[in-house]
Amino acid sequence: MRRVAFVVLLASAALAAQPASYDLVLRNGRIVDGTGSPWYRADVAIEGDTIVRIAPSIRETAARTIDVSNLVVAPGFIDIHTHARRGIFEVPTADNYLRQGVTTLVEGPDGSSPLPLRPFFEKLAATRFTPNFASFVGQGSIRSAVIGEVNRPATSEELEKMRQLVRQGMEDGAFGLSSGLFYVPGTFTPTAEVVELARVAGEMGGIYISHMRDEAKGVVDSVRETIAIGEQGGLPTQVTHHKVIGKMYWGRSADTLKLIDEARARGVDATIDQYPYTASSTSISAALLPAWAQEGGRQELMKRLDNPDTREKIKAESAALIRNERGGGDPRNVVAASCRFDPSLAGKNLAEITTKRGLTVTIENAAETAMWIVMEGGCQAIFHAISEEDLQRILVHPATMIGSDGEVAVFGQNVPHPRSYGTFVRVLGRYVRELKLLSLESAVQKMSAFPAQRLGLADRGVLKQGLKADLAVFDPARVADTATFEKPHSYAAGVSAVIVNGEVVFEKEAMTQARPGRVLYGPARK
Ligand SMILES: [Zn+2]
Repeated sequence: MRRVAFVVLLASAALAAQPASYDLVLRNGRIVDGTGSPWYRADVAIEGDTIVRIAPSIRETAARTIDVSNLVVAPGFIDIHTHARRGIFEVPTADNYLRQGVTTLVEGPDGSSPLPLRPFFEKLAATRFTPNFASFVGQGSIRSAVIGEVNRPATSEELEKMRQLVRQGMEDGAFGLSSGLFYVPGTFTPTAEVVELARVAGEMGGIYISHMRDEAKGVVDSVRETIAIGEQGGLPTQVTHHKVIGKMYWGRSADTLKLIDEARARGVDATIDQYPYTASSTSISAALLPAWAQEGGRQELMKRLDNPDTREKIKAESAALIRNERGGGDPRNVVAASCRFDPSLAGKNLAEITTKRGLTVTIENAAETAMWIVMEGGCQAIFHAISEEDLQRILVHPATMIGSDGEVAVFGQNVPHPRSYGTFVRVLGRYVRELKLLSLESAVQKMSAFPAQRLGLADRGVLKQGLKADLAVFDPARVADTATFEKPHSYAAGVSAVIVNGEVVFEKEAMTQARPGRVLYGPARK
């Protein structure tokens, strides 16, 4: 009898001394697991950086528990198109993304990446930062390094050098090849040359992702080209930030999506990503000046702008771009986001800047102003030239995932596109809850499991035992974007907690001290 009592005493002492079973338990959440399956109620247990158990009721002790009753627990969102190297070293906590529930940022889009990638990754890895970080290697950066900003096909020797740089990018840890065939020098690249480089990335397990050659008049042909590059290069292909620019071309998403459907039906692995706004953002020079004028780089452009003949030609084409394409038919539809040569221009539209320069507002004078801006040093700008109808049609397509095309914002600096602050929560608030265009489960899938699958991130993107603990906890009744074009520096609403690699990085409306972000490497990393 005494012996039994002694054993019981020992056992309870052992129990008391025993460390908690789990590091963290989220209790009573609505699990939206990322796969698209209907939500279910469960507790989630985390140990270290891993989800170790999901069950209706987890009774074991935990170092910390968070009550998430009536909140959605989803996989942390994966943003497949970001320009996050703008800002990540200044704001390593990437608040504008983390506060939306985004836990992984993918860089190197639009054909533009650090080259080589390895030193960039090393610099990043030596920094304490919050989100996970991955990258593509950029075709434009590679072409620029090997051939320069010139409009001619590559020689076979140059092509071999470019192939080698793709190989190196993949071995450094890229997830595939990106292109920006709209930009200089991507625009000078024949399709066959892109295919050759894409093939190298594909053989090493990468994907191809493209800011297409033309998102306005030639949008349908550009989707055809993007599909062809995947088909001929033998790798998955993705139309990035899919949109139709310019009123004259609105509605053509019906045709582009049909092409994607047909391609998929015959076995081409073609997909799409998109941000949920009817305005785009890039530089004034890329959007409103013809590409031929920029061949050879800035000095050559300045010479052409100084020469009266070429200047007239550039002006005429710029006016056409304002009238029919990114200018949205009205100088008021172009709004400066940031101008290094004159920060006070941020937030002003092209009509206002034209007036400020003492000119009456006409399309031609707006073209003059665009040329002036470029000569002064250039601006990033926002271009209101997309229709809500195309946006919605693309958004609900099953091959479409979400990507912001944003950057790590320095709070209060400039007047950037609100997509950096609002993309993911805008889909959840406006398109899921308000407009009921998508189910919550489908929207979350487009932000987590789908991009994870696309990148080959087998250990993230789904809430499942054994996977990395990247989680977003939010209130489905309140989640919303608050950033507007007028006031973009405004954080997401309705997100309660965000966890990266098992560590809570955001809770009670504030970022914590944790900086658990990791560099994620692609399939061919050596
Ligand atoms: Zn782009």
